[in-house]
Amino acid sequence: MTAEQRAWTADLYEYRWPGYAVEFPELKRRMGTGYASATSERLDAALTAALPEGARLTGVKAVSVEPTRVTLADQRVLTAGAVIDARGQRRTEHLDLGWQKFVGLEVETETPHRLAEPIIMDATVSQMDGYRFVYTLPLSADRLLIEDTYFSDGAEMGDEALKARILDYAAARGWTVKRVLREERGILPMAMGGNIGKLLAEAENGTPRIGLAAALFHPATGYSFSDAVRTADMIATLPDLRPATLADALDRHARATWRQRGFYRMLNVLLFRAARPDERYRVIRRFYKLDADLVARFYAGRSTAYDKLRTLIGKPPIPIPRAIRALANEWRKSWRR
Ligand SMILES: Cc1cc2nc3c(=O)[nH]c(=O)nc-3n(C[C@H](O)[C@H](O)[C@H](O)COP(=O)(O)OP(=O)(O)OC[C@H]3O[C@@H](n4cnc5c(N)ncnc54)[C@H](O)[C@@H]3O)c2cc1C
Repeated sequence: MTAEQRAWTADLYEYRWPGYAVEFPELKRRMGTGYASATSERLDAALTAALPEGARLTGVKAVSVEPTRVTLADQRVLTAGAVIDARGQRRTEHLDLGWQKFVGLEVETETPHRLAEPIIMDATVSQMDGYRFVYTLPLSADRLLIEDTYFSDGAEMGDEALKARILDYAAARGWTVKRVLREERGILPMAMGGNIGKLLAEAENGTPRIGLAAALFHPATGYSFSDAVRTADMIATLPDLRPATLADALDRHARATWRQRGFYRMLNVLLFRAARPDERYRVIRRFYKLDADLVARFYAGRSTAYDKLRTLIGKPPIPIPRAIRALANEWRKSWRR
C-alpha cells in the first residue's frame, strides 16, 4: 500500500511490529519489513464511526441484488443510488484454485513467551497435506495467535487435528498454554488460472462486485486486505457513483488486477501442480533467500520485471520438464475455460 493508504487505514491496526521471521530447515531469516495486524473489532469501530446513525443493517440476508435495489430475506426492499455486491467468495467454475487453509488459536501462556516479532512461516514442522507451516503473532507478553496452516490441493480441513497440532507446537517451543482465548479458521483461495470475463459475467442482474467475488485477492496468499483498500480508493476517486459508472470502473479494475497477476498464478501452478507436496517447502524456502525488497514487492503484488526474472532463474527446486508440463496443462485448461 502507499503511505497515504497506510495512513487512512492506520486506525484498523491493533498490532504492529518492525519485522518478522521465517524459518525453514537450513534457513532462518528476519525480514526488516514492518508487519501489522488489523482486527475485526477495529474495522467494526471504524465503520460504526463513519456511517450515519442507523445506516448499517446486519444479520439479515439479501436474497437478490440489482444495480439500485436489494431484496432482503424478510421481504423488505431497499433502494439506493447504486448497489455493490460484496457478499464474498462464491462457488464458481471460472477459477482454478488451490487453498491456504488454517486454524488459529489465540492463547494465553503461563509465563511470558519472549517472542518479540511474528514468525509468519515456521516450516520446520513436519510436512503434510501439501506445504505446512505455523504462523505465530505475539499479541502481548503472554498472548499469542498460533495458526497451523496448509497450502493444499483440497479445501477440506479437520479442525480438531489442527488444534491439537497447535498445542503440540506451542509445547515444542517451550510455551505452556494457560488457556485458549479465541479460535479462528480460514480457507482462502490461491488462484492458478481462470477466466475473469466469465467470472465477472456471473454478477447477479449486472450488479457490480468487489472483494473475493471479483477475484480481488493476491493469488499467492489468498489475502485481500490491500485489494480492499485499493478498491475503496478507486471508488472514492470516481467522478460520480451512478450504477453505470461504478459497473464500468469496477469491471475494468477487476480485469486489470487479474491481468497484472499472471506471474503469481504461474508460481502457484509450479507450487501446486509441478512440485510434489513434500517438495513445496523447498520452493518457498528458495524464494525467501531472495532480496528483502523483492519479497516485500511480491506480497504487495507489485513485482517488477526484474523481480520476476530473479524469482525464476537459478537452480530450480523442481525438475524443469515437470514444471513445463504443469504450465502447459494449466494454459490448455485456461484456454478451454
Ligand atoms: C481467520 C481468517 C484470517 C484471515 N487473515 C487474513 C489476513 O491476514 N490478511 C488478509 O488480507 N486476508 C485475510 N483473510 C481473508 C480475508 O478475510 C478475506 O479475503 C476477506 O474477508 C474477503 O472479503 P470479501 O469482502 O470479499 O468477503 P467477506 O469478508 O467474506 O464478506 C462477505 C460478507 O457478506 C456477507 N454475506 C454473504 N452473503 C450474504 C447475503 N446473502 N446477504 C447479506 N450478507 C451476506 C457475509 O456475512 C460477509 O459479512 C483471513 C480470513 C480468515 C477467515
